[in-house]
Amino acid sequence: MPWTPLEITELMGLTKIIIMIPKTNQISNGVEDLMQKVVSLCKRRGFIFPSSEIYGGFANAWDYGPLGTELKNNIKQLWWKKFVQSRDDMVGIDASLIMNPKVWEASGHLKKFADPLVECKNCHSRFKVDDLAIKTCPHCGKKEFTPPRQFNLMFKTFIGPAEAQSNITYFRPETAQAMFVNFKNVLDTARKTLPFGIAQIGKALRNEITPGNFIFRTREFEQMEIEYFVLEKDWEKYFEYWRKEMAAWIKNLGVDIKKVHEVEVSGKEKAHYSKRTIDFEYEFPFGQKELYGLAYRTDFDLKNHFKEPPYREEGVDALYPHVIEPSFGVDRSVLAVLLEAFKEEKERVVLKLPPKLAPYQAAVFPLLANKPELVKLARKIYDDLRKDLMVAWDDRGNIGKRYYSQDEIGTPACITVDFDSLKKDDVTIRDRDTMKQERVKIDSLAEIIREKLEK
Ligand code: ATP
Repeated sequence: MPWTPLEITELMGLTKIIIMIPKTNQISNGVEDLMQKVVSLCKRRGFIFPSSEIYGGFANAWDYGPLGTELKNNIKQLWWKKFVQSRDDMVGIDASLIMNPKVWEASGHLKKFADPLVECKNCHSRFKVDDLAIKTCPHCGKKEFTPPRQFNLMFKTFIGPAEAQSNITYFRPETAQAMFVNFKNVLDTARKTLPFGIAQIGKALRNEITPGNFIFRTREFEQMEIEYFVLEKDWEKYFEYWRKEMAAWIKNLGVDIKKVHEVEVSGKEKAHYSKRTIDFEYEFPFGQKELYGLAYRTDFDLKNHFKEPPYREEGVDALYPHVIEPSFGVDRSVLAVLLEAFKEEKERVVLKLPPKLAPYQAAVFPLLANKPELVKLARKIYDDLRKDLMVAWDDRGNIGKRYYSQDEIGTPACITVDFDSLKKDDVTIRDRDTMKQERVKIDSLAEIIREKLEK
């Protein structure tokens, strides 16, 4: 596949960031543009920065800035609330990234968690075979490659001061294994009966051969995973159940479900542990790619970790539960949410984020920064709202500029304190999407904002 570099040098100060975009017929300049605009906005407004930028950056590593951290945390909190806290059949854990290397031996990752890699014979660049649909090197254009060889994606490291073979261990390439190895601990303490799930949000590391496309594929990323334990006879029923739950979650993020395609993963493409996998693929500007995955892992993992069946329930013989695994990438969620939310309207750029995901839920402005009485009242409103909400303060420039600035970061409501506010205890509240302004009483503000967050 021919690739085109999307360069954003001027936006990144010292850093020259090049995102490789496959050049297919489906990709118009418009969508390449969208990606560039979103990356630029992320840098400009503090959502996502190139990692180690002052040292020239570090390829394919990104840091979440103040607003990106809020957005990402809102996604994670929403997920945790929906799939863990509000359900009786789910509990959460938070396990370590470096586990006993025996875990990876038993899980099959040491032998099988590999991608086929080829090397360009001319410039020695390395690629994942799947990324080279048309066998042309995206770097030098030559067409001669070495035969594919399996490249294990796990990051190796050493425990302790000696870099000896016996001290080798790995950073986890998925959060899932911690749920399996803790299965009995959780069962004994949380006393759940089938069907039930264990969830976790956390980092995973993979030494990806071809990372790229901004935060879509990085070597360090975050996952939100559920291992849902069921009786073997019920796996299809729960697979369907989770399929629907995942689609509903995607909709809830404000992502257009028409741009999401459920793709059955074929035999040889499936991970070594999976008997059935569906990928939820989203139409990213750089092509239709996996957003999330749903896998039926059978009893593969529990059988590898436990010599005896680990599940016991009164009146039932001990057994190995089967597992349905809905797996959600946090960073791919952030990217899809940003791409969907980004809109250009006449004279403004607006992030139409679902209000509950917006980094700031409201912004408060005194009409004039040099009028102490306005500043005092605005400050009081700001401090009161901040007790339960994320609220921005802005007293720079004129009101139009402040609206522009808040629209660009997706703040759903802007509140302006003016001279009438001093007499009538009311303020102007302006809606991000409709741009309509209303006068409302100061004491109803928290309620009005909360109503917006429900949407
Ligand atoms: P891909 O085919 O894109 O490599 P995968 O099938 O290997 O993905 P899974 O092992 O199913 O991915 O991981 C579950 C989820 O974790 C993915 O659906 C995705 O959202 C996220 N994810 C996986 N690898 C990465 C990565 N390198 N960077 C960012 N997110 C990732």
